[in-house]
Amino acid sequence: MRIPENKIEEIRSAVNIVDIIAEFVNLRKRGQNFLGLCPFHNEKTPSFTVSEEKQIFHCFGCHAGGNVFKFLMDYEKISFVEAVKSVAERLGIQIEYENQAGTEKQSEQEMLYDVNEIAMKYFSDILLTKEEGETGRKYFQQRKIKNQTIREFNLGYAPYKRDAFVEYAKNRIDLEKAMQLGLIGRGKEGNLFDKFSGRIIFPIDSPNGRVVGFGGRILEKNEYAAKYLNSPESIIYTKGKLLYGLSHAKDEIRRLNKVIMVEGYMDLISLYQNGIKNVVAVSGTALTEDQVVLLSRYSKNVVLLFDADIAGVKASMRSIEILLKKDFEIRIVSLPKGEDPDSYVNQFGKEKFDELVKQAVSFHEYQTALYEAEGYFTDSARSAEAIRNLVKSLSLISDELKRNFYIKSISKRFGIRENLLESELDKLLVKDVKQETPAKDSFRSNKVFPNKEIKITQEIQFLERDIILLFLTGSPDIIKFVFSHINPEEFLIELNRKIAELIYEEFNKKGSFEVAAVIDTIEDEEVKDYLQLLSIDQYSLSSSWEKLYPKQDNSSVLSKVCMDTMKKFKSLQMDNQIKDILSQVQNVSSEEEGRELLHILDQYQADKKRLNEEFN
Ligand SMILES: [Zn+2]
Repeated sequence: MRIPENKIEEIRSAVNIVDIIAEFVNLRKRGQNFLGLCPFHNEKTPSFTVSEEKQIFHCFGCHAGGNVFKFLMDYEKISFVEAVKSVAERLGIQIEYENQAGTEKQSEQEMLYDVNEIAMKYFSDILLTKEEGETGRKYFQQRKIKNQTIREFNLGYAPYKRDAFVEYAKNRIDLEKAMQLGLIGRGKEGNLFDKFSGRIIFPIDSPNGRVVGFGGRILEKNEYAAKYLNSPESIIYTKGKLLYGLSHAKDEIRRLNKVIMVEGYMDLISLYQNGIKNVVAVSGTALTEDQVVLLSRYSKNVVLLFDADIAGVKASMRSIEILLKKDFEIRIVSLPKGEDPDSYVNQFGKEKFDELVKQAVSFHEYQTALYEAEGYFTDSARSAEAIRNLVKSLSLISDELKRNFYIKSISKRFGIRENLLESELDKLLVKDVKQETPAKDSFRSNKVFPNKEIKITQEIQFLERDIILLFLTGSPDIIKFVFSHINPEEFLIELNRKIAELIYEEFNKKGSFEVAAVIDTIEDEEVKDYLQLLSIDQYSLSSSWEKLYPKQDNSSVLSKVCMDTMKKFKSLQMDNQIKDILSQVQNVSSEEEGRELLHILDQYQADKKRLNEEFN
């Protein structure tokens, strides 16, 4: 049973998001927007904004945001389909459902979210109310997990049967989709079976709390099965891009400006239940750069819980490197031998745990103390090795002041001359730069000499932002005009490039573009956030145009702004190309190469002339 996509769009455009949200939140008009206290995080000054014009909401405090359906889903904790129905009922719009065979489909992503949602409710229902859930209930009782916590994390249990979920799902969801999501497998004879059977289920959420996959821990001893099973990647789930528990922890992480990072699901859940709510779990994979970037939006102060030995540090070195490179402030807690966060907090409680966290030391201090404890500094060969390793960690810190501080502290502590340490550090830093250079973003549209780098100036930033703002006017003429001159890949700033690609795709598909229609399908949190910000924050086209750009839609002024922006963008692009060629001309190695460069230069200059004519 699906709601046709055009019906969803009809319902969305018939409702005013302000009316719906005003049912739940006290809104006051402020400028063009409405403002209120955010229902998704605790605040005293309103940062929750609703745009009537763009039909989206956005919270500047916790970054919640989306269209009217997203609001209802998050506020009332209901599925997408339920949210659509609820709006339709308010408006008195009849919904005709279509079968799976229907030609117009709900977006692929939404269907997958729905399948996960249904599976999650099924597993949770078994655990909380069904007889087959007894094994699961016993497990959580032993682990001292309360029912309230089980509900909060939507924990579940998949009964130890071959096809209990298959049977349940048969008439409710598209089994192909369930297979795609790794909930169901197909045996050699074509028979379908439950993938997670006999496992405790941990739903994995996106930061906004939508279920993208599952982690399953086996309960019955079975030497053929892995202890943990995770959903495969799908269009709604990319491993290494999410952190387990973030949707629950994000407000608390912001409030305390600190995040505790643990390894397992159960560590996180135990800490959470004991009132330590600023926790995320890496679980499953090694920490990735994407995860760190995601986390940096909430806090850059991270506390790691470690096994207290050098092997433990070595194993975690990769994570630490990534965190240091992204300017995180790392503090380390060592747990008593034989304890993990789960066992520790259950045995000693929140206060003792908080104390432990308070005693956390910087990564550098921790590492030094470990080498000391293991006797490295008593013999000169091992001492050199330890110091080299300490300096190596320092080389990962991008903040020069911080590095100098630690150099001084090593120097003092071990009586080593500062400049000796510095020269060691310099060697490592030079190596680092060399390794990183090729990865930098090069100017993509220049296919002939792709090696040059363009400095992102403020002018480029403003111009690119203006172009995105032009897209956001939603005028098909303007969007068409811009794309006839610029490819999405010509944007130099990655974020803008992603947004341009998204708009380009949407516009080609539908011939129109509206933020509220696409905002909920955007997976990339950064893109989504920036797009909401631009839509809602009343950025206006650059200040010189502000006077020209009237409140009413005056298409001739708008098209003038559009022409101007395009001209500036193109001519800046060409200037950069010309500058680059000129610098290459100075370093040519053969006459032939020089001639070729001059020829290209001629072409660029001709292009530039043509450009001036075209836009005047
Ligand atoms: Zn908020």
